[in-house]
Amino acid sequence: MTGQGHHGDDASRHLVADALTQQLYTAVGAFFCNTRRGAQNICPVCTGPAAMRSLCGPCHGAKETYGSSLADLVVPLAYAKARMPSMHQSAHHVRAYKASPPAPKCAQDLRFMAAAATFVHGRCIAATTGQWHAVTFVPSAARPGGEHPVADIARAVHGVHDEAAKVALSVGPGLCESPARAPRPDRFVVPATYQPFISGRHVLVVDDTWVSGAKSQSAAIALKNVGAAHVTVLCVTRWLRYDWDDHRQLIETLDEPYNAMRCPVTGGDCP
Ligand SMILES: [Zn+2]
Ligand SMILES: [Zn+2]
Repeated sequence: MTGQGHHGDDASRHLVADALTQQLYTAVGAFFCNTRRGAQNICPVCTGPAAMRSLCGPCHGAKETYGSSLADLVVPLAYAKARMPSMHQSAHHVRAYKASPPAPKCAQDLRFMAAAATFVHGRCIAATTGQWHAVTFVPSAARPGGEHPVADIARAVHGVHDEAAKVALSVGPGLCESPARAPRPDRFVVPATYQPFISGRHVLVVDDTWVSGAKSQSAAIALKNVGAAHVTVLCVTRWLRYDWDDHRQLIETLDEPYNAMRCPVTGGDCP
């Protein structure tokens, strides 16, 4: 492609990005806030509260045990504020999108956030490990298989053009083993038919919510155990609890509406 072609691509990309940003501001700006990066009291892995530039408790414990088998990069997009004095719309959105029957507006908004983030910031997410080749999601215990609404979020992400490379992990024997808040290598299984899409590749794991990271990190471990070269976790929301002191202190600083142009990898400008 010529340089001229690249300029054309960039111009149309900016037009689309501007439109996405406006649409998302209208749809979710009133209740979702961007996750933070680089602040002293923010976990550099999961963007949850942490002490002085160190990992939060669950991320620290996971790293001690699983090291480089964990995701290379975790990208939560927005905070969900749970256990607020009255139900906050951000937490309601995450619950209602997977209720039965699901709330269509909530499901659409979460899909839209994932689609916009991977369209606008795909190059940022791929900056250190290269473009992803496959997209996976983790099924829930209640509804194993492909019908969980997170499958629709995974299908909405930008950057994988081969539909066959959008694959579901299977539930493993250790799915419900305790402790629930720690990752395990046997919670999920990569079906043998999908392993050729995974081996040696960069895989994007898509999830709706990061609570402790046990679910997403268990998926990362399962993928690396069958040869994934890199794993990135994209979570639409990072779950915060108002009834926990450190979470509440973070929640109380969150007041800016969700801005899809703010980079979820750096917390500010794109790298
Ligand atoms: Zn963390
Ligand atoms: Zn970016």
